[in-house]
Amino acid sequence: MADSLQDLGEFGLINRIKESVKLTNATTIKGIGDDCAVIAPTPGMRQVVTTDLLLEGIHFDLTYCPLKHLGYKAVAVNLSDIYAMNATPKQITVSIGVSAKFDLAAIDELYSGMLLCCERYGVDLVGGDTSSSLTGLNISITAIGEVAPEKIVYRNGAKENEIVCVSGDLGAAYMGLQLLEREKRVLKGSNQRPEFDGYDYILERQLKPEPRRDVVEFLDKIGVVPTSMMDVSDGLSSEMLHICSASDMGCRIYEEKIPIDHVTRNMAEELNFSPVVAALNGGEDYELLFTIRQEDYQKFQSTPGPNIFAIGYICNKDKGRRLITTSGDESDLVAQGWKAWSNK
Ligand code: ADP
Ligand code: MG
Repeated sequence: MADSLQDLGEFGLINRIKESVKLTNATTIKGIGDDCAVIAPTPGMRQVVTTDLLLEGIHFDLTYCPLKHLGYKAVAVNLSDIYAMNATPKQITVSIGVSAKFDLAAIDELYSGMLLCCERYGVDLVGGDTSSSLTGLNISITAIGEVAPEKIVYRNGAKENEIVCVSGDLGAAYMGLQLLEREKRVLKGSNQRPEFDGYDYILERQLKPEPRRDVVEFLDKIGVVPTSMMDVSDGLSSEMLHICSASDMGCRIYEEKIPIDHVTRNMAEELNFSPVVAALNGGEDYELLFTIRQEDYQKFQSTPGPNIFAIGYICNKDKGRRLITTSGDESDLVAQGWKAWSNK
């Protein structure tokens, strides 16, 4: 009986993964097991493709992120990019680099989280690659989705006087991370249990984000195609600046309109941190940020659906990209989202 990764080897592991995968989409013709997966796009539709690389120690910390959650999140963040195009995800491929400190049970945990997310969002895992690694766990996921050509939403379609909207609430995942980091520091070397009571919401937002399929389905239901859209992975400021530069526009965002959950506020207060800064410059919220025409706004109000908030408007780029604070002052939006290669 082979129970270790060493005994199983690469092909044994791939077979094991293959056995745990069920294919469900009509567009998936061939999954794991050949040189390529084979996908038959629905006629008349466009395919969208996105890929993401996650490195242990850079993007995740296994001291507080359970492998099942990590697997779930790794898939979820890719699906979030697909939904941000107003598309529906259909297939993913998963490549892993695994160092000797991981055993078979760890890989099983990781894949159980990935497959749970796939199942929940109707996605087939159709392939990948497997390698040993010298530097912990590396995960690269590619996601493929589809969308009718007239419904694709890019970042560059925002126009003057349109309304800026965001789903859900912001800053929670960042405050969840701050809480986890604090407990990690406090508990170093002690065997006390961490204090997480009352903070489930922000922990869940950090450890198990959900991509906003419900928002994309709601937009479809009320017949609204946003003029621009992206997901919020690096904080509201940075994403808003992306939409403005791609669209060659300016904007005004009202601080008081930015949705922030009370648990996020409580945590921020406890840590002496501004909840608005968490929303503007934190990250990993995986909400959708989009712009709509003024005449579409009433459609949101007349149909019940997910929480969507109007937080500002698009203006001419000469007017700048600015935040209007609760006290009425204006300041430039600054991107302080996560930057590769900087060591801050
Ligand atoms: P190749 O030598 O062409 O890279 P592999 O032996 O790596 O082929 O892969 C064989 C099959 O197993 C392919 O269908 C590939 O997509 C799939 N596969 C390999 N590694 C993984 C993985 N970690 N997760 C899912 N599928 C995988
Ligand atoms: Mg290979």
